[in-house]
Amino acid sequence: MIVILKPNAPQDEYDKLVKWLSSFDVKVNAITGTQKQILGLVGDTSKIDIEAVRAQEIVENVQRVQEPYKNANRKFHPENTVIDVEGRKIGDGSLQVIAGPCSVESEEQIITTAIAVKEAGATMLRGGAFKPRTSPYSFQGLRADGIELLLQAKKVTGLPIVTEIMSLAHIDLFADVDVIQVGARNMQNFELLKALGHSDKPVLLKRGLANTIEELLMSAEYIMAGGNDKVMLCERGIRTFETMTRNTLDISAVPLLKQLSHLPVVVDPSHATGMTKLVEPLSLASLVCGADALIIEVHNDPKNALSDGAQSLTPAQFAQVMKNIKKQADFMGKNIG
Ligand code: PEP
Ligand code: MN
Repeated sequence: MIVILKPNAPQDEYDKLVKWLSSFDVKVNAITGTQKQILGLVGDTSKIDIEAVRAQEIVENVQRVQEPYKNANRKFHPENTVIDVEGRKIGDGSLQVIAGPCSVESEEQIITTAIAVKEAGATMLRGGAFKPRTSPYSFQGLRADGIELLLQAKKVTGLPIVTEIMSLAHIDLFADVDVIQVGARNMQNFELLKALGHSDKPVLLKRGLANTIEELLMSAEYIMAGGNDKVMLCERGIRTFETMTRNTLDISAVPLLKQLSHLPVVVDPSHATGMTKLVEPLSLASLVCGADALIIEVHNDPKNALSDGAQSLTPAQFAQVMKNIKKQADFMGKNIG
């Protein structure tokens, strides 16, 4: 971090600032130029609030030269993090495909869909039990019963389950869930992130609708700061001026996240576009860009789905998409599963 001081800063203010900055366990190097006095901070500056430094009376400007995230930063952890979910490895160079309905709706729906996605080659099952809906009058999910149904589907298929948590109050209900999803709308629910930091469950952290890549990494940092380093970063599309698609898939986020962080990267082409026809091309693009996993919505009867039917593939469509994903994975020398 570089701190540029205002000209003629009073000595006592200067001493106070240096003392305060040194209290963060960093080395403070003073550089006196002809025009300006500069402080160069060396060490781990991630605990220093840049805005608090900027607010100091004698400070003219501050610049970070190091990212504010440390645990998630590839600079401090060059090897890829590999997360093991019941033997499925995420981040080891293979590809995992998480598939299933947006919402768990009934025993028949989730079991039928789980069997179909497994047959087509999916390696994990998704399904929302707690649903973050824009309207309070829309289907809100089967809640605890939904988790029970997912566990039944896991028994039948052997597929590990991924499901979304919306509140800290429900954390005990997730004891047998394999991967806890934090949805886009909760990416900055910091109390929830802190609680998941104290859990040993893998977390699939989705990027918020209007959040930057750095904010996504800082949310991962919240979980990791608590001791849980099993975090997957998920690009699921962001809000832009474009209205043709539900969101805009920020495909550049995929290789960028892989460069900035050692955490596995997951892409959700379903929520990114809202259109079944775009799921295959964007899945293939994600693979080429280095995604470690895909999360795809599949429903046994999309027309009658209680949520996200327009973006949900039928089992037959999913099987076709999987064929082409497999071709691409083979070409890249990647195993699925
Ligand atoms: C979901 O996975 O069904 C979901 C609600 O996702 P997102 O948080 O990305 O909107
Ligand atoms: Mn959905």
